[in-house]
Amino acid sequence: MKITEHIQNADGKTLFSFEIVPPQKGVGISDLYKNIDPLMEFKPPFIDVTTSREEYIFLERENGLVERKVTRMRPGTLGICAAIQYKYSVDTVPHLLCGGYTKEETEYLLIDCMYLGIQNVVALRGDAMKGEKYFKPALGGHSYASELVEQIDALRCGRYLNEDTGYKGCATDFCIGVAGYPEKHIEAPSINYDLQMLKKKVDMGADYIVTQMFFDNQKYFDFVKKAREMGITVPIIPGIKPVSTKKHLQLLPQAFKIDLPEPLINEVAKCSDNNAVRQVGIDWAVHQCKELLDFGVPVLHFYSMGKSDNIYKIAKELF
Ligand code: FAD
Repeated sequence: MKITEHIQNADGKTLFSFEIVPPQKGVGISDLYKNIDPLMEFKPPFIDVTTSREEYIFLERENGLVERKVTRMRPGTLGICAAIQYKYSVDTVPHLLCGGYTKEETEYLLIDCMYLGIQNVVALRGDAMKGEKYFKPALGGHSYASELVEQIDALRCGRYLNEDTGYKGCATDFCIGVAGYPEKHIEAPSINYDLQMLKKKVDMGADYIVTQMFFDNQKYFDFVKKAREMGITVPIIPGIKPVSTKKHLQLLPQAFKIDLPEPLINEVAKCSDNNAVRQVGIDWAVHQCKELLDFGVPVLHFYSMGKSDNIYKIAKELF
């Protein structure tokens, strides 16, 4: 079922969902299942699976030279989606990236999704490759998520890439999610500019928005207000990440270009070990989510990077 249908059918009740990251290449899927198993108690209507773009690795050769290779460290997004869908009878949402993919490769992925009964996708640009300053599209790939949305939307009308040869294929029925940034995307010159680009994605056919993580609900409330004023009417699903280690105080702002509120920083700084930090993260997220539930958010979407015990504890208090 489509995410938008899940939201409609919930009739105003907030749903629980989460995102998982594929294991590193060479690691089996069993640990992933161990993390998902307990969370199924909260009946998520869908689970997102991220895609990692390719990266450079450097291999030292016997002759002393260093060889640069391109590899994907966490492949298998679509396989994991299919496996989870089959094992748990839950909708899965693969993340599709512009970065590292040609339009043809994207089309093949979408065709695989169609065959597998995967009806929802999140369309993203992806970041610059590690070690590179700017995002560069693949040769024959998309530069912005809005272009990827346009390609997926064309498939919904049966317009495949080789349409100019007169070919018209069967129409697909994808529900398309896109990313939104309550604290603006790092490259955007202003929040208003970023919102205009978000509107473009919706105008191209995006059906819902999932936000970057945030720790101050006011940022989400302001973002939703501005988006609505701009004429964006699709559901805006908040993304929640519980802080779980002291290192997150530096890592999260650096990786996701977000601010942490002073009271949260102070509570984490006081902790003597990471167990205590984990509890602070749980308490903060529960408080955040209760306010978001009062606001009437359609879904509480959790970023589960690795261990999910903290998300279980949060969901237990809320659902
Ligand atoms: P876009 O919407 O294309 O925006 C990128 C930048 O360009 C923004 O600054 C925007 O304002 C600007 N812009 C957009 N369109 C135009 C235009 N036409 N002209 C000029 N400027 C424009 N990354 C991964 O690698 N894998 C994942 O699985 C993944 N999942 C994510 C899930 C969520 C919910 C979120 C919020 C992010 C996720 N990301 C993921 C990170 C994401 O790929 C990065 O944040 C990336 O830098 C931007 O992607 P985007 O789709 O928002 O890009």
